[in-house]
Amino acid sequence: MKKQWVVMGLLMFAAQAAWAGGEKGSGGGTAEAQLLVVADNLATFVQQCGVSPACGLTSEENTLIQKIWAELISRNPVSPIEFRSEGEYPGFFTINGVVRAAKTNLVRGATIYVNQDLLYPAGPTGARGPISFAAMAGLLTHEYGHHQGVEDEGTLNLLGAKVQAFMSGSYSEVFRQDLSVLNFETYDPATGATPHAQLFQRDDYTLTDITEGLEEAIPPESKKDWLCLKPVGFLIRNLHSVRGAAADAGDGYVIHRSQGNLEVACLVMKDSNHITTFGRYQLRISVRIDQKLIIGKDGMGSFTPAKYNGVKTFEFFDCTDPKETRCH
Ligand SMILES: [Zn+2]
Repeated sequence: MKKQWVVMGLLMFAAQAAWAGGEKGSGGGTAEAQLLVVADNLATFVQQCGVSPACGLTSEENTLIQKIWAELISRNPVSPIEFRSEGEYPGFFTINGVVRAAKTNLVRGATIYVNQDLLYPAGPTGARGPISFAAMAGLLTHEYGHHQGVEDEGTLNLLGAKVQAFMSGSYSEVFRQDLSVLNFETYDPATGATPHAQLFQRDDYTLTDITEGLEEAIPPESKKDWLCLKPVGFLIRNLHSVRGAAADAGDGYVIHRSQGNLEVACLVMKDSNHITTFGRYQLRISVRIDQKLIIGKDGMGSFTPAKYNGVKTFEFFDCTDPKETRCH
């Protein structure tokens, strides 16, 4: 199955996106970290847009998106992404009197500068939050379009909007304090849509792709029950924190527990590419965080910065069994 993933979309880049701190407090640097993850996966996103009729590209746009994909896949040179604030550097992002979300040069590998001031727009309640994964993909597609020598803003705005709309339709985001899920479908003309999920662990410093190992952890006896010839992908829905989630590991460190529904897509017919969503599970994810509670001289407790230490476990529960007490 892992091979299949690599073939399907080169999705399993190590999305270990370290980002510079210093933005804590104004959104925690969340959008910056997420944008780097989107950049790591942009090749997959634009490729899926290119092959899916749902993305609605013209033939010129398709040619352009193939060039963008080729730059992203080659990763040589890799375009650095730098974050800067128009407020701190007035005029840096202002082009023809308009403050832009990002800017770059018309050559492959050029640095992409992203305007931090526009990464945390105010929502309907007035609270500020990061722009969506889909919007980040649209923004980056626009910038990589410039790298292919395209100067026209209108052309790239339209292309970015199409990628963004495609992703909004195909992706859902569940952002939690510590775990994020990206659900999406890859599209292949021969097999149709195949569901996939990527799971991210977020701590105070990094956003780490922790999806690897999940497919191998699915209990084999259950695969048999489903008449499933081969699992090819999965979606994670309704992921939420389990009560008492930040449990002490016994040594002063912290275990985060989250639970949600896992839907597994299977190949169901031999000699065909027929894929259907078949198995349904409760999935519990436990992640160990290096974070200690420190009691100060004044008796007040505070936590040290959280650092994911690479230890995770996946458990699967059959919640249709009334004797299963771990479901809730
Ligand atoms: Zn532009």
